[in-house]
Amino acid sequence: MKFERPRGTRDFLPDEMMSRKSVESRITGVFDSFGYQQVLTPVFEHTELFHAKSGQEISQHMYVFDDKGGRSLCLRPEATASIARMLASGLKTMPKPVKVYYSCPMYRYEEPQKGRYREFWQAGVELVGMDSHESDAEVVLIASECLRTLGVEHKLRVSDLRVLKHVLAASGLKESEQDSVIHLLDKGDIEGVKAKVRDESFFKIIGLKGGLDAVEAVEKIVGEKIKTITSGFKGILALLDSVGVAYTVDFSMARGLDYYTGMVFDVKVDGLGAQDQVCGGGRYDRLIGLFGGPDTPAVGFAFGFDRVLESMHLQGIDLGRSSVDVYVIAVDDNVGDKAFEISSMLRRSLGGRVVVHGLARKKLSKALEVASNMSASYAVIVGSKELEDGSVILKDMSSGSQEKLAIADIASRIK
Ligand code: AMP
Repeated sequence: MKFERPRGTRDFLPDEMMSRKSVESRITGVFDSFGYQQVLTPVFEHTELFHAKSGQEISQHMYVFDDKGGRSLCLRPEATASIARMLASGLKTMPKPVKVYYSCPMYRYEEPQKGRYREFWQAGVELVGMDSHESDAEVVLIASECLRTLGVEHKLRVSDLRVLKHVLAASGLKESEQDSVIHLLDKGDIEGVKAKVRDESFFKIIGLKGGLDAVEAVEKIVGEKIKTITSGFKGILALLDSVGVAYTVDFSMARGLDYYTGMVFDVKVDGLGAQDQVCGGGRYDRLIGLFGGPDTPAVGFAFGFDRVLESMHLQGIDLGRSSVDVYVIAVDDNVGDKAFEISSMLRRSLGGRVVVHGLARKKLSKALEVASNMSASYAVIVGSKELEDGSVILKDMSSGSQEKLAIADIASRIK
């Protein structure tokens, strides 16, 4: 009987896993460098957690099942609702702001296609307990720094949902109607939007793109009242300018998740096809309150980790390769045990360096080929003749030079 992987899932072979690990550690390294701390929530949660909070888009695409106790559970489709749930109970006593990050798989029952999987990874941050233009700018800056560190060419768009909500409210739409317009906009369904919105200024605003000038144009269209919203937004943009983050203000940007309340942003990469959004985030000031916690402002984002990797492949960026420091070769079975012991000794004395013990016995020339294919920096050749006086041969694989050394001296010779 042959088993296939479930649709929308992938296996990761060693080479790919190596790249994933290296890219993940560079992303989380940036999160660490901003003082964020890693958290982990369960893979499955009560279904209602996401039904109520993540919005229609995600709710329709969840892996839901009943457990043996008849409880409805689902595989987590995203992390923000879980983190809000986790923090809701502990927040009162925690010093603010709380700065956390995660990097883990998510599950959505979507139609698989290029860049869209049923099991995919997200790496993201949440900054909780602070409502200021600095905290919004910090979160956008973190996303931008990750992509800069990885060398990924990208386009960052930023908006403030309160601008659209203000205009929609002024034209008489209730909050739920405003959300549904924002959903339609998110899906690019302009005809659907036109059926619900009559106000011409709304369409002028979603057509605006640029920098500060786009915000000033909104102020001209809407008038003084919008300035309480736009002044904060301009503060974010000024900070992004001051740290060299390139962005486009685009008021047509909406986000599929219901919980966003203010600044929103996304990052796209050219050439990825239909699924070209590699990152999305924004401010969500009501979510934690909805979970019974104190009203707490928060802002965060998630990278679609798989799409970041695809962008790197596409842009020809080196994803990192596995490296072997020392490959230990036993020339025949008689010295296999001694070579095993030397490998172990080297691993301990070189702490953290990669020492591979050659298990398969081969002719020396073949064994050196294996070492070279692994890009090993050194080969240690263990032969009976040298062992007689407690020595081995150390070969520098890049220069090809080799020397006879006492076993006790090998570690100190390895750079
Ligand atoms: P969201 O939680 O929907 O805002 O998504 C955040 C990011 O996760 C998106 O920008 C995508 O890069 C990524 N993402 C969302 N759904 C999928 C999926 N099914 N497969 C791969 N990546 C995804």
